[in-house]
Amino acid sequence: MSQQFIGHDDVGILDSPEEVLTTLTKEGERKWIYPTPSKGYFYKWRLIVGWALIALFLALPLIPINGRPALLFDVLQREFAIFGFVFYPTDTLLLLLLAISVAIGIILFTALLGRVWCGWACPQTVYLEFVYRPIERLFEGKEHVRKRRDEGPWTWDKAWRKGAKLSTYLVISLILSHSFVAYFVGWENLIRWIQSPPTENWGYFVMMAFTTGLVMFDFTYFREQMCTITCPYARFQSVLLDPDSLIVSYDEDRGEPRGRGKKRDGLGDCIDCYACVRTCPTGIDIREGLQMECVACTQCIDACDDIMDKMGFEPGLIRYTSEHELEGKKTRWLRPRTMLYSGLLVVLLSAFTLVLANRGAYDVNVGRSVGEPFMELPDGQIANRLRFRVHNQTAEATSFRISVVAPDGAEARIVGTQPITLEPQEMTRTEAWIVVPPDAFEDGSREGTFRLTFDDGTTHDVSFMLLGPSG
Ligand code: SF4
Ligand code: SF4
Repeated sequence: MSQQFIGHDDVGILDSPEEVLTTLTKEGERKWIYPTPSKGYFYKWRLIVGWALIALFLALPLIPINGRPALLFDVLQREFAIFGFVFYPTDTLLLLLLAISVAIGIILFTALLGRVWCGWACPQTVYLEFVYRPIERLFEGKEHVRKRRDEGPWTWDKAWRKGAKLSTYLVISLILSHSFVAYFVGWENLIRWIQSPPTENWGYFVMMAFTTGLVMFDFTYFREQMCTITCPYARFQSVLLDPDSLIVSYDEDRGEPRGRGKKRDGLGDCIDCYACVRTCPTGIDIREGLQMECVACTQCIDACDDIMDKMGFEPGLIRYTSEHELEGKKTRWLRPRTMLYSGLLVVLLSAFTLVLANRGAYDVNVGRSVGEPFMELPDGQIANRLRFRVHNQTAEATSFRISVVAPDGAEARIVGTQPITLEPQEMTRTEAWIVVPPDAFEDGSREGTFRLTFDDGTTHDVSFMLLGPSG
């Protein structure tokens, strides 16, 4: 695919009416952009927040809480550890409440603060702006130098610079992909797989190569297109934002009519210097109004504030504001939709806390084993083979025994030995024959009640329909 370049001379605005994206021509060719960093007030704070988040991302799979990583979404073992709480697919209600709370939280957050997530905390922005682009500048120089070199022929200078950049990218991408995969398989598994030869763990090797390749592709080539073309969150902006949401916006009343030069007779404060466009990582012109491609990174605020300072004007021609504020009205933080979302969130989180607090120490589930529904033993008694799945939801090791409460005269014959031990948070499956006198059955069935007695004295009764001869 051939590329066109956007830099100091040809800033990232649409070149023809048929173009729909500033980084794509109407033929679908990529326009490469070279955003100039604007190291102002917001940049400094974003840098601090960004590196704090990177440290957190790398640390969370390593920090143990209650014997589990702080965050673990173990797809192989089908368990999720979230800050010391362990959830299983059977915790349907809890997981559902958590998922809906997260969704409502995102909707509320966006209605209030717009795309603050995109500009300040999204890994795509954080890693691209504070890790990959600085490395690029280190090896290939400033934007105008890079642009000139990229447009020129291949030379030794160009080759070694790109080679060094890509090698460093590869090392960083390997670290990121390992850290990312650790969230799904745990560090212990990861280290075991790393230490063994690829021939013993082809699955791991392929998964890691694929993840690293994706990270490399994204941060080396795809970059802002992840936000402008692929990310679904950007597509929902039109329904999530309203005129009171926080946005990064150009103050048209103050800036227009724009014009160059120190003499401002009849002109607004915009000197048409294009500093806001040159710094934009998605190549847009914020003066065209709120656009889906804007990731609210605040770079145009910093760039414009610097120009305003040099011109001796007040800062804030581009600023955090709301559509209502730009129209001279007050921004309303409390409005029907934000109050509704907040109320819903309080209800959902209260329900989640309540269900979590009342979750028993042990979760017991009983079902029928595969095979015949029942068996008649030589002594005439009827045997049902049942499967007990027991989950120890405490931080202590325990053991338990299974006995029969009803019907009278029935007994449990465990496949294996009793007591059955369980490590903290462990789930086990055990099978038992429930042997019942034949006269216990009426019309071919009879409800049985089974008691699990744990070594801390706790008992847990479960019932299940036993099958037997009818009549
Ligand atoms: S940086 Fe400010 S003054 Fe310069 S073009 Fe953008 S809005 Fe106008
Ligand atoms: S318009 Fe401004 S806030 Fe939006 S992406 Fe471009 S530089 Fe960032």
